Amino acid sequence: MICCKECLELLCDYLDGELDPKISASLEEHFQDCPPCIAFVNTYKSTTHISRTTMKNVEIPEVVQARLKKFIDEHKSKQ
Ligand SMILES: [Zn+2]
Repeated sequence: MICCKECLELLCDYLDGELDPKISASLEEHFQDCPPCIAFVNTYKSTTHISRTTMKNVEIPEVVQARLKKFIDEHKSKQ
């Protein structure tokens, strides 16, 4: 099973459709059990959509990245 950190690392390739189908399937499996990752994907998608259509080189807002990292850290420490 893929962890949240790996999801984030694979996300670009996943959204570009460049991932191995098996890895994509593992990612999707992870998303089913991980609402924060889904939320992140949605944010990421809308951000890249905006960047592709209007602003071109916008990356994920640092606030979003920081928030997600914080969540992952908290999640980990609880386990
Ligand atoms: Zn996750």
